[in-house]
Amino acid sequence: MTEYTAPLRLRLDGDALVHNWRTMARLSGSAACGAAIKADGYGLGARAVMARLARAGCRDFWVATWAEAAALMPVAEGLTLSVLHGVREGDLELAAKLTSVVPVLNSIEQIGRWVSHFAGRRCSAMFDTGMNRLGVEATKAGEVAAAGLNLDTVMSHLACADEDSTMNEGQRERFEHIAMQFPRARKSLANSAGIALGADYAFGLTRPGLALYGGIARPELAEVIRPVMRIEAEILQLRTVRAGETIGYNATFTASEEMSVALVNLGYADGFWRALGPDGVAEVTGEAARIVGSVSMDLIALALAPVCEARAGDWARFDFDLAECSCRSHMSAYELLTGLGARFERRWG
Ligand SMILES: *Cc1c(COP(=O)(O)O)cnc(C)c1O
Repeated sequence: MTEYTAPLRLRLDGDALVHNWRTMARLSGSAACGAAIKADGYGLGARAVMARLARAGCRDFWVATWAEAAALMPVAEGLTLSVLHGVREGDLELAAKLTSVVPVLNSIEQIGRWVSHFAGRRCSAMFDTGMNRLGVEATKAGEVAAAGLNLDTVMSHLACADEDSTMNEGQRERFEHIAMQFPRARKSLANSAGIALGADYAFGLTRPGLALYGGIARPELAEVIRPVMRIEAEILQLRTVRAGETIGYNATFTASEEMSVALVNLGYADGFWRALGPDGVAEVTGEAARIVGSVSMDLIALALAPVCEARAGDWARFDFDLAECSCRSHMSAYELLTGLGARFERRWG
């Protein structure tokens, strides 16, 4: 029996991923550079991303939840895997099992919970410096310093690093003031866009996510970040559509002349959203093929060029340029990446 091959796949470029991490590491100056691999490595596959970046020298990794950490076990010696959402009551059982995993504690309540169950065990702390997302209030830094934690890293997160906002400098200054109160812990503020803001934002450890996966978090990164991912979907059927006939749900496309159409195995359930349909183009046997009709849950129709000699079983390639798709769909590059579904075979080259 031959092995099952999925009719849709992500072509992932391992060299580009490592190039992007090395680029963010270089832009981080003397700070260490880690990698955010939450949401299954932004849809690319957290385990594969972690293995590749660890081989390249990355030592710090962040996921959002304990379930995500559990899925990455065992973690190789010398790597630090952290859980950004800290520790809930419901996490205690997993936290007791995953003894090497480090929670990023986000509130006085979480700190109390950690100390009462795991006193002396390594943890990190997140402070809010103005985003009003997860984090201990900046005014409580003294209270955290006095809690007797075995602190690995003190962190905060920038709200507007992808914009030229005065808020960036304000958050940086507030963080610097907090950081002074933790002389022995590592300090970390910058995500991908924050790294591009300059050396002042790097502190001791940076936390890029998006840029590793080919997202352009700020214009400064456009020239140095490489795309990591392409989509390929198999042609399941070819058909001839006559002039005047329509294609797909709600008959949104009408053929003005006889045309050849390929039905490919890809749809919005895979994260190829309906908003990407209009003006969307793929490539089939070297020819451009336009998306016609609305994107279905599991299928897309492509109009083949008259010279195209495709057959069922051939593959259509979608380049999924994040900036361009983001513009077309009014969705962020983050949403497009993390929406990539479970049905893709993720094939690294
Ligand atoms: C997701 C996340 C990151 C990575 O952000 P990017 O914008 O993808 O580089 C860094 N830090 C925290 C706290 C995060 O939640």
